[in-house]
Amino acid sequence: MRIAVLRERRPGERRVALLPEQIPQLLEAGVDVSVESDAGAEVGASDEAYSAAGAEVDEDVLEDVNAVLSVQPINLSTARRLSEGTVTISFLPTAEEGPLVRRLRERRITSFSMDLVPRTSRAQPMDAMSSQSMVAGYRGAIVAAERLPRFFPMFMTSAGTVRPAKVLVLGAGVAGLQAIATARRLGAVVQAYDVRRSSAEEIASLGAKFVEVDLPPLEGEGGYAREMTEERSTRQRELLAPHVADADVLITTASVPGRQAPLLVTAEMVAAMRPGSVVVDLAADQGGNVAGSIPGQELSVDGVLVWGGFNVASQLPRPASELYAHNIVNLFLLMVRAGDLHLDFDDDILAAACVTHAGRITHRPTLELLGEVG
Ligand code: NAD
Repeated sequence: MRIAVLRERRPGERRVALLPEQIPQLLEAGVDVSVESDAGAEVGASDEAYSAAGAEVDEDVLEDVNAVLSVQPINLSTARRLSEGTVTISFLPTAEEGPLVRRLRERRITSFSMDLVPRTSRAQPMDAMSSQSMVAGYRGAIVAAERLPRFFPMFMTSAGTVRPAKVLVLGAGVAGLQAIATARRLGAVVQAYDVRRSSAEEIASLGAKFVEVDLPPLEGEGGYAREMTEERSTRQRELLAPHVADADVLITTASVPGRQAPLLVTAEMVAAMRPGSVVVDLAADQGGNVAGSIPGQELSVDGVLVWGGFNVASQLPRPASELYAHNIVNLFLLMVRAGDLHLDFDDDILAAACVTHAGRITHRPTLELLGEVG
């Protein structure tokens, strides 16, 4: 069996799906590896390093492969070249990738989406959503610390005391908790809010203060948040407004699975912040938590810097790739038995992560999105 690792082609994507370090493990499992030239160029993994680890490096790696590993979804022309039954594994946000999903079905390709790996204990080693959110949360705090024209920690010097920066984090999932931990390590005073009840304890355990507001929690299925009603949304913004106005740094990470990110902060709330304050919207590329944030752009709005995240994990491509490569290899090895591809759809992880197989779209919510249920 042979797998191919692609050079990423989407603008701004600097990660790679596999590093030379994982190749011996794959060879041992009976899997040969072809790596597209320059695939690891952005993370300091040279073609020579992949060859030395036992991979074949080539300009064209799509001939006679059983599986294709990438970070971003393959493109339509790559899908056209793969033969029936080939497996693809990548992030595959099906809501945004309708034409590709249809092409994968038409070509009878078996596709798995890293976005759909379930959040169970057994699936943790394959959970790329978490690993990449962790990278994004760290990066968000570092961006804010770097952009803020003041210290994060308190300084007590003979010339006087400098107060620490006040950081407010909205949304305390994987990214938010990492942003909190990073801001705390840098010495900031951190407050955070999340609609899930369990987050209060997690926030406190990192040395931050949970922002108490007079609103019921909004827990949904599988430990995720639920979407807010318009009424609650307005009330939450009103209650959080004074906390936002008092923050030097606001980092937002809130999202609800399968929905556009909730609008937590209006333009008026940003305008009420002190000049020089910094807003980092890590949800900017999912619709945005902050009015006016633009993915991949840094804007000055009424003297406040508003930084919109765009593929933020990719801004730290080496550690993001290391973690992603572990996640994808762990998922892929669930499909390998005695050196052959063996797809056991009784395995809950493979069943949940599969998008297309044998000429069908197997992921029901995707079928619904494409208007094909019925
Ligand atoms: P996410 O990216 O879907 O959302 C980020 C955060 O935004 C969540 O904490 C969510 O509650 C919050 N949020 C949503 N709407 C909000 C609003 N209106 N105001 C404030 N906050 C809002 O979440 P995630 O980081 O993927 O994690 C979600 C949950 O899954 C957490 O409970 C996490 O601990 C859990 N999780 C479990 C596992 C596992 O068991 N293997 C792995 C990863 C995450």
